[in-house]
Order: sequence, then structure tokens, then C-alpha cells
Amino acid sequence: MTSPPQIIEVAIPLYLDRTFHYLVPDPLRGQALPGRRVLVPFGRRRLTGYILETAADSSIEKLKEIIEVLDSEPLWTSNELEFFRWAASYYMHPLGEVLRTALPAGINVQSRKEGAGGDTTLTGGKTVRREKFYLPGPVSETVRQPGAKALEILAVIREAGDIPAAVLGKRFGSCSAQLKRLTELGLITVQEREVYRDPFKDQVFKRDEARQLHTHQKDALDTITACIDRRQFSAFLLYGVTGSGKTEVYLQAISHALDKGLNALVLVPEIALTPQLTGRFQARFGGGIAILHSGLSDGERYDEWRRIRRGLARIVIGARSAIFAPLERIGVIIVDEEHESSFKQSDGLRYNARDLSLVRGRMEQAAVVLGSATPLVTSIHSAQQGRLTLLELPERVENRPMPTVERIAMKGIKETVSPALARLLDQTLEQNQQSIVFLNRRGFATFLVCSACGEPLSCPNCSVTLTFHRQRGQSICHYCDYAVPAPGTCPACGGTELSELGAGTEKLEYDLKELLPQARLLRMDSDTTSGKGSHGRLLSKMSDGSADILIGTQMIAKGHDFPGVTLVGVINAEAGLGMPDFRAAERTFQLLSQVIGRAGRGELPGRVLVQAYDTDHYAILSAAEHDAAGFYRQELEFRQDAGYPPFSFLASIGISGISEQLVSEQAEQFARLLIKLKQQIKARVEVLGPAQSPIYRLRSRFRRQILLKAVTRGDLHRLIVAWRQQSRKGSTIRISVDIDPVDMM
Ligand code: ADP
Ligand code: ZN
Repeated sequence: MTSPPQIIEVAIPLYLDRTFHYLVPDPLRGQALPGRRVLVPFGRRRLTGYILETAADSSIEKLKEIIEVLDSEPLWTSNELEFFRWAASYYMHPLGEVLRTALPAGINVQSRKEGAGGDTTLTGGKTVRREKFYLPGPVSETVRQPGAKALEILAVIREAGDIPAAVLGKRFGSCSAQLKRLTELGLITVQEREVYRDPFKDQVFKRDEARQLHTHQKDALDTITACIDRRQFSAFLLYGVTGSGKTEVYLQAISHALDKGLNALVLVPEIALTPQLTGRFQARFGGGIAILHSGLSDGERYDEWRRIRRGLARIVIGARSAIFAPLERIGVIIVDEEHESSFKQSDGLRYNARDLSLVRGRMEQAAVVLGSATPLVTSIHSAQQGRLTLLELPERVENRPMPTVERIAMKGIKETVSPALARLLDQTLEQNQQSIVFLNRRGFATFLVCSACGEPLSCPNCSVTLTFHRQRGQSICHYCDYAVPAPGTCPACGGTELSELGAGTEKLEYDLKELLPQARLLRMDSDTTSGKGSHGRLLSKMSDGSADILIGTQMIAKGHDFPGVTLVGVINAEAGLGMPDFRAAERTFQLLSQVIGRAGRGELPGRVLVQAYDTDHYAILSAAEHDAAGFYRQELEFRQDAGYPPFSFLASIGISGISEQLVSEQAEQFARLLIKLKQQIKARVEVLGPAQSPIYRLRSRFRRQILLKAVTRGDLHRLIVAWRQQSRKGSTIRISVDIDPVDMM
């Protein structure tokens, strides 16, 4: 009697739109289970695949056999696999690639290096760090007493019960002779054990306690915890002005989930920028937190991943990729600053972690809390439609007033810092208070222009101007890092007289130094924060009062709480409005509101000066007047008139290549095919373009895009599937499909 052959479904990390079936040879039965990796023959190659399911169906003929099962424990639960399947289908990305993206780099690197390299994921392999530990041995008394130092060591080991060799070394210096002797006598034993690299091991956190919540906070918390208790999916929009106590609500909701034996997932825009937030989580919960972010080494990331998989971390905090964390029994998912565009991945699997949090939350029956002081226009709409439950925190904690905001029309003013702002900065300095000056542009001048021919200095690889950085003595492309010595000469006519146009943070710092020589200035932008830990150092100079004025790009707008700041100046508030992007007004409103919210978070009230040419644009006016409702009303009207989200669903098809003509022909051909197909399959989709992308040339590639605008997601999906099946592309052309695109450039 033979049992039917075992067949498994395997996803392969290649750009293929399907999965594959394999036979499991008898000796590997019982090992080839869902969520584990397998080595399979694929064409002439051997590849690592991921087991999705064990299919009972034995009708499939001529299947190949798997070579080896690579893991002894599953990497994912069936719930997680279902989530990945959903993401693959929604973003129209191969499932095998989705699974590869979801794994920490450490695992992937390892398997590439070793090829068919045994069980490397959770237990063995080079990336796992092992250390020696000493424990009390089987013998408790001995006739032959060891020497005096050994006795001391023995006492310490017995006291600790279990102690790393490194700790003994620190305490006793070299003691290997004594340890050897004690081991021989059976008084102690030695074990080699797996340890996790801890990115926070050198930091000490002061514990803090839950605050007494104010009424709005309490109402919000009660609504959330009721859903956690019922283990019922529910989606909330926690809409609270800056400083209204949203984070305190997150902390207490998480604490509630932990008490119920459930776990918590926290997504933040970019963790390196929010050391204060992670600090608050550590202060409240101590250990048991895993932190995932781009600053971790592969080893650290891999260890954090394993800690989570094994249930050793109950709170996971991370940037967008943390949505794939192998966390089970999730009671609550927090998405902090839900409006941030960094939740969207811009290449490969172009997922949006904010959107996926709702999908994962549904599968895990969790409460999902989207928090922001300036929610997405689409979130406000969802709340109006009842798809998100609105929880409002309309006031600042302790009724601190919102800052007063004045708009300064810059017409006729040629200085970067207007006289009005200069006066207030001086006053604030005299009163020993702190200021922030915000300009969302780094570098010295925005760019250099040739006085002879009028041409701006621009990048030879990208269709953008080069930004002049005075300290580095270079003009730099912020897209491809192309750099030339500056000021230099005009590449167009050889002219040597180049004048500076516009201003960046570096120029702002230079001007402020002249204006206020006695002020202690601090500049924060991606040029001053590239070193490890430099971000935190700059922030702490601000919090301990050893700086007077913080100058910075959008980096300083986010989530920092500086109680000493009473004045905020905004330079060139409309900089973002010129972008060819339908979200330009939304982004400007959000950024301005966030920056304005940095003032007056402490005891003293705040004051803000907003410099702009067009001070009456609704994005600037509503931010200055704290009139969010007015902004959302106008913006939703605009979106409805123009047929943009939330009143339509978008996908963008990107076509790029080195040859301008081939790209153009390919794009035209795709557009014709899309139009033909949409009629055939009766999909209500508008095909816009092909148009040149706003940044037409990037890293030497020409770029065109086709925008698809649909009434329903279903129609959009059907059209792209049909197009994918019929389209053929030239070998030098690169195609990308971006569902719900965020970057329109
Ligand atoms: P948000 O996340 O909305 O910006 P926070 O949660 O950071 O707001 O709160 C702002 C400040 O007020 C923080 O310093 C926080 O510790 C404090 N805070 C929050 N809730 C309370 C409360 N109920 N009572 C007293 N202080 C609070
Ligand atoms: Zn460039």
C-alpha cells in the first residue's frame, strides 16, 4: 500500500506571474511544510523557493522533485502567507518576490552565499552569533577545594545561575585557567548559546508611567480598547493636532493589548528621524521591543526578525517594511503620521504600508489606528464615508494654545530672511528662548545661473538643476549625486561669471550668522546628518538648550517636541506648490501645519512667521489660520472636479530606457494597446498619456509614463492584467507598474 505522492505549491523569487508545483520525495515528507524554504530544480538552475501549500491534488503529471528543505521551522504562518498573497495580487507583483522582500537581508544573503546551504534561518548558519555561558555544574561539593579566585568565580556563577563568559571576563580579568579547573571538577558547566545583537544595548532608559488621560484621549482609548477586547477588525483615524496627546493614546492602547496577551505593531515614517518616539516606547515598556529600520546592519536586522518570529518581542516598531514583520496575535496596529509618503515603497514591490496595515489588520482581527495631525485627504474622506472611525483630539494637552501665525508677503523683499523675521529672531534670542527656521531646500544657493548666457547649471544625466553647496565647493545633483567643482564655469558657453539663485539651508545658516552673530546655530538636513547618530546629537543640543536656532529642512518638521521653542520662521512656504503633482497643495498644507506646530509646545505660547510670495493660496492660508476643515473641504472639491483620488483609482505605468526614441515608441504602443483592450473588456478606465515624466531624464534614462484613472479598482486591475498578457517590450526598456502611485515625478 503506497500513499499518494505529496505535491507542494512553491513560489519562486523571479519575475514570473505564477507559482509552481513540485513532488516531495518520501524521505522529505513531513519536512516540506508551508512557510519553509526549499531548494528546487528550475530549468537548468537550482533555486530557493517558498512553500505555500501542500496540495492533495495528485493529478498533475511529470512534476520534478524538490532537492532539499532548507528550514526546520516555518518562516511564516498561514495567516501571513495569505497576507503576502493578497499583497502580490493587489500590487501585481510576483509572490516569490514579495516573499523575498518580506525577509530580512541576512537570510537572503546567507542563502545566496551558501547555495544549498542547510538550515540557515532560525538556528544555524554564519549570521547567527554564538557566545559562551557558564552555569553551575552537576557537582555541588568537592573534596578537592579549588583555589581562592576560582571559589569567588564559582560563587558568582551560582549566584547568577547563568552568566555569559564575557561578563566574567570583565569582572575577573583573565580566568580561563580557573574556569577550566571548575569545569573539570564538575562544579560548573559551559554552554554555547545563540545570542541576539541588540541595537540598544548601551542605552539606559528612564522608566515612565501612563499619564492620567484627558477626556478626549480617554474617549478615543476606550473606543479602541473595546475593539481590542472583542478581537474585531476596526479601523480608526486618530486625528489630533500636534501636541494633543496621540502618542499617549498609542502607548495605552498597546499596553491594553499586551495585558490581553496580544501583540502590537507600530509603523512610523522613518525611524532614524524619530528617536524621541522610540525612546518613549522604551521608557514605557522597557524590553520586549523589536525595532526595525534602515540603519540596522544585516546581522542586527536578522536577529530582530528572529526575536519577533520566536515571540521574544511583543512590540514591533519599524518603518514601512515592518508591515511584513513575523508577528503573531496582533491586537493593535498603529500607523503614526499616516499621511507620510514614505510609507510607500518606490521601487520593486511598490507597496504602501499604511494601506497594507488595514489589510493585515483585517486578517489578524486587530484594531488599526491611523494617527496624524494632518491626515491624508483620502483618510478624511474615508472617515466622512464611515470606512474609518474618526477619533478626534481637538485640543493641545493642558489647553496650550495653538501658536499665532502671521503671513509675510515677500514681494519686494530680496533678503532670504525678511526684516520682520530677523527682528523676532533677535527678540527671541534676547529672551533666552529657542527658534526654528524652516526651509525645505538643502544646499547653499538653489542653483547657479550663467550671467553670460542665462543657462542654469544642470545635471547631464537628469533633467534637473544642480544644487550649489558652498562648504563642499560643489554643484550636486540631488537625484544621481553627479557633482562638479563649483562655482566653476558654464558648460554651455564657458562663461565664468555664475550667479546664485534661490537659497538652501546652507545659505540660510550663512545669512543668519551675519544677522545674529551671537546666536548659537544648528543646521539639520541630510548634509549634516549623514553620520551615524548625528541626528540624535543635533536634537539633544536643541533639547538641552545648548543651541538657540535650529535651521532645517522637512527633517525638523516631524514629531520632535522641543518645549523651549517659541518662534518658528518658514522661508519660501510655497516651494512645493509648483510641483506638477496633484498632491502639491495637500503636501504643502501638511508640511506647513507640522512646522507651525513646532512652536509653543512648552509653557510659553508660540509665534510663527510664514514667508511666501502668494500668501493667499488656500494651502498656506488654511495652515496659517489653523483651518484644517476649510482646507479639506476645498481640496476634496478640487479632487472631485479633477477626478483624482479619493474619487478615482490610479495606476501609473513607467517606461524608461537609454534610447529616447525606443522609449517614446514603446510608450505609444502601450497606450494604443491599453485603449484597444479597455474597449474589448469594457473597463471604465481613462488612459492618460504617454507623457514625459516631470523628471524626464533620470540617471541617463529617458522616462515616460501612462496614467490610468479608473472608477473602480476592479476595472483597473482587469485592464492591467489584460495588458500584461499581450504586451511585448524591447529588451533595453524597463517597465514599472505602480498601483496607487504616490510619486508622480
Ligand atoms: P502628539 O503625539 O499628539 O504630538 P504627545 O502624545 O506627544 O502628542 O503629547 C504631547 C506632550 O503632552 C507630551 O510631552 C506628552 O508626554 C504630554 N501628554 C500627553 N498626554 C498627556 C496627559 N493626559 N497629561 C499630561 N501630559 C500629557
Ligand atoms: Zn543627476
